[in-house]
Amino acid sequence: MKIDDIYQKFKACTAVSTDTRKLQQGCMYFALKGDNFDGNQFVNKAFDGGAKYCVINDKNALISDDCILVEDVLTTLQKLATYHRKTINIPIIALTGSNGKTTTKELINAVLETTYKVKATVGNLNNHIGVPLTLLSFTKELDFGIVEMGANHLKEIAFLSGIAQPDYGLITNFGKAHLEGFGSIEGVIKAKSELYDFLMQNQNKVFINTDDKKQVTQIANYNNVSHFGSHTNNDCIVAFENANPYVTITYDGITIESQLIGDYNYGNIAVAVAIGKYFNVSSDNIQKAIESYHPDNNRSEIIEKGNTKIILDAYNANPTSMLAALKNFKQLQVKNKFLFLGDMFELGSESEKEHQNIVDFIEDHFEKNTYLIGKNFYKTKTKASTLKFSTYEDLKPHIESLQLNNATVLIKGSRGMALERILTLL
Ligand code: ATP
Ligand code: MG
Repeated sequence: MKIDDIYQKFKACTAVSTDTRKLQQGCMYFALKGDNFDGNQFVNKAFDGGAKYCVINDKNALISDDCILVEDVLTTLQKLATYHRKTINIPIIALTGSNGKTTTKELINAVLETTYKVKATVGNLNNHIGVPLTLLSFTKELDFGIVEMGANHLKEIAFLSGIAQPDYGLITNFGKAHLEGFGSIEGVIKAKSELYDFLMQNQNKVFINTDDKKQVTQIANYNNVSHFGSHTNNDCIVAFENANPYVTITYDGITIESQLIGDYNYGNIAVAVAIGKYFNVSSDNIQKAIESYHPDNNRSEIIEKGNTKIILDAYNANPTSMLAALKNFKQLQVKNKFLFLGDMFELGSESEKEHQNIVDFIEDHFEKNTYLIGKNFYKTKTKASTLKFSTYEDLKPHIESLQLNNATVLIKGSRGMALERILTLL
């Protein structure tokens, strides 16, 4: 069936789904194949659950006239999203980067939705499946769509940009994340800059943080740029005031006190301010939106337990965000600090060196109360005062015997370490 015909059927549907456990009545179900399951096996279940059409690629699943047999279900989903994006023709803001994409996406969304009809990527749906699903959730009534794009290989951002066709875009930063797939920081810069390549080829707008020299280099000689950051010649001047522990910034004579910790969140906030200002959102609304945004899902959250403060940053970790979190923790004016740090994944051949770098930094700046968890940290060279455990289970009895009093705790590690588990033990 041609994509235009599938599109006509999509228009008669209420939504798109790839999971029969979370179907919406009247949706179009895409029978994707994953590592463990083949969606074609759930077509009966999809119709029982209320799907109007099922897009399949297995002839054996062709059980009704409402099945749409295609060669490749994923490609069809992506083509449909591309077709839909062109049809609705709304302004799309895309963002990628190594760290802070979701936080920044949510801040931009909070700022713009004070004034406009906006929809953004839900949660972290930022890959070759999530981006098409995000686009298919947008309608032509929207003033803006905001699309988070993630990648761990070259050409992925180029591919996602081809689907999302952004009119505006930004990169949060270039950091040492997913080095396994990118090879090096140069690989990261090249891969993330595929968004700039798309925007420049189409003469579309780039928002750039001029404090980030690596980014400025990537768009040298390009004109359609809106500059923001601390320098006084920016289109939007955003000054970092402090992070004690929450980040405070000023712009246009207004002070904004965010609920985000860590000076690394300055850039995330600054771009949301810059985009708001660019699209004429009032400064009152920008301020309200940013001040009321609270991170969730273990992203730099502060949790209080008795008189102890816990910075729960267990959502993810890589060498750049780990170092950023440690530097922030170091400058906090509190006594009795405790560190619980878990392994950083997907670093390939750089893993040993990067874990050792973190250990060296910790041992230079924190004298005691450091707990390292995971096989990678376990292999590092440490001083006797640094405690290390190859698994969470090994760590557990040590935490259970800890009596924290007036302490400040940082918990950070890769998603797979699930260090939020520590919270119940403290
Ligand atoms: P993912 O790759 O999983 O989609 P993301 O880029 O969307 O991640 P967020 O979910 O916004 O990132 O933030 C995850 C964590 O990254 C935060 O809790 C914080 O520790 C760290 N972080 C956020 N912004 C920055 C930044 N600008 N620089 C360094 N680290 C950051
Ligand atoms: Mg994200």
